[in-house]
Amino acid sequence: MLAASSVEIRKVNKYYGPFQALKDVDLTIPPGKVTCLIGPSGSGKSTLLRCINFLEEYDSGEIRIDGQLIGYDSPGGRKMSGRKLREMRRSIGMVFQQFNLWPHMTALQNVAEGLVRVRGFSKSEAETRAVDALNKVGLGDKMGNHPSRLSGGQQQRVAIARAIAMEPRLMLFDEPTSALDPELVGEVLGVMKTLAGEGMTMIVVTHEMGFAAHVADQVAFMEKGELVGMDVPGRILQQPEDPRIQAFLRTYHERNDFGA
Ligand code: ADP
Repeated sequence: MLAASSVEIRKVNKYYGPFQALKDVDLTIPPGKVTCLIGPSGSGKSTLLRCINFLEEYDSGEIRIDGQLIGYDSPGGRKMSGRKLREMRRSIGMVFQQFNLWPHMTALQNVAEGLVRVRGFSKSEAETRAVDALNKVGLGDKMGNHPSRLSGGQQQRVAIARAIAMEPRLMLFDEPTSALDPELVGEVLGVMKTLAGEGMTMIVVTHEMGFAAHVADQVAFMEKGELVGMDVPGRILQQPEDPRIQAFLRTYHERNDFGA
């Protein structure tokens, strides 16, 4: 079993100029569990996710990973040093909607590169670990391919391999299947499901309600910067009490039922 992180988000606020993107967000992410963030476009899901590894700076409140405040030396205090932040980020993997692979490198090189540069492994040790990670995402036979010779689903699996090769204790996924053709979504969700089964702490911004229903341990719904509700998927997706969640799910089902 992997070592898995917990995350505590307390009264987090975030502004872009005068616009408040996060409003007093509270959320507890238990170790080894999958939390899906759902809600309409523009509701702050991606902003919240990016605040967790301090890719976005939150303005007030606290985000703690395994009890340790990220981003600031103390609540409301000075920003933490770049060195300290890099150290904390080392245990956090992130997968984006766009795969961000280096086009001039093979799948293997894409995965091995960070292991050499960030983790300081020798080239051969990095490649051994990269091979393991690529096997894990089912790409053992594509390691020599450049991204242009991989499908979108395969490229995203390389991106996942690159993240897990660093042995994170927390994985953040920002709409990892949104850029994919529908027929390629399943292979990426399948890899994420395997990771979840291994006890990785995962926070996933997604529009895939099937994934949220079947894989998430808890689902949080956001709207207009607020965390409106959080519950096990069986309750929040089947019998939501809040009318905002009901309306969102109704629209989602209408769209999907009619293939719009
Ligand atoms: P979601 O992930 O739910 O679609 P986002 O977190 O991306 O929502 O965005 C939340 C809100 O913050 C949106 O209204 C968006 O336009 C705004 N926003 C996001 N990033 C920026 C930015 N860098 N500058 C200004 N506004 C931003």
